[in-house]
Amino acid sequence: MAAKFLGAHMPTGKGLPKSVSALREIGGNALQVFTSNPRSWSGKPVSPEAAEAFRAAVAGADVEVALASHDTYLVNLCAESEEIVAKSRAALIEELTRCDALGIPVAVSHIGARMSRSDEEAEALAVEGILHVLDRAPGSACLLMETTAGQGSSLNADLGQIGRIMKAAGGPERLGVCLDTCHVFAAGYDIRTEAGWRSLLDEFESEIGLDRLRLIHVNDSQKPLGSRKDRHAHIGQGEIGMECFEILVNLVELENVPMTLETPDAETSHGANLATLQGLRRGSA
Ligand SMILES: [Zn+2]
Ligand SMILES: [Zn+2]
Repeated sequence: MAAKFLGAHMPTGKGLPKSVSALREIGGNALQVFTSNPRSWSGKPVSPEAAEAFRAAVAGADVEVALASHDTYLVNLCAESEEIVAKSRAALIEELTRCDALGIPVAVSHIGARMSRSDEEAEALAVEGILHVLDRAPGSACLLMETTAGQGSSLNADLGQIGRIMKAAGGPERLGVCLDTCHVFAAGYDIRTEAGWRSLLDEFESEIGLDRLRLIHVNDSQKPLGSRKDRHAHIGQGEIGMECFEILVNLVELENVPMTLETPDAETSHGANLATLQGLRRGSA
């Protein structure tokens, strides 16, 4: 079977409920949204009315829609400033709280960058922060650590590091992983071939466990393999190329993992990129 849930990160300028209908208009059934301004610390709680309106839009869609949120870009659980660490923890608690109200099961976070700290120190702080957040956020929404391109001193460009953080945290049920195709490619994982995907999945299984993979961000990359630069490109039009995505949407192991585009020009190009992905599925209805 091919990927069951294909969709996109959708703009929410017209309100969260509208993002559901906009996704359905382009034929998607996996939706990622920002539940607050991604460049601000001041995430507001979701009112019961707003939560109800979003839940109604999802329930009223003509198909089942898989949901995910993405946290604010400012979060750094291992920042050098104690104030930023505290703000980051609070922001993640607020994010998971909003997800719980909205019925969104997973929230993606870049977790942090080590700055001048050693990897060991940064990982320890990330673990401490994650446990602090999961302990205080109500409900059952899961925090997903996103694989990064390794730009600057970002954590989690390497599956081994994600695995170490997962293990050190004790593998809580509410901790998972979001894999971004552009990021892993920029971090040096060559996923342009079947063998490349096989080796990534084997490493994922041994370092983390494939059952922890809860979401995939499907993006081509403007920058070459191993560049450690995070620049998304339209599907099939970047350095990764079409074959990678054809393999991805047909991987049996990942058929139930929702996949969302984060490609450029959401308003004008998500429809075409999504149609491309859907067209690559083999044997799907
Ligand atoms: Zn991403
Ligand atoms: Zn990115």
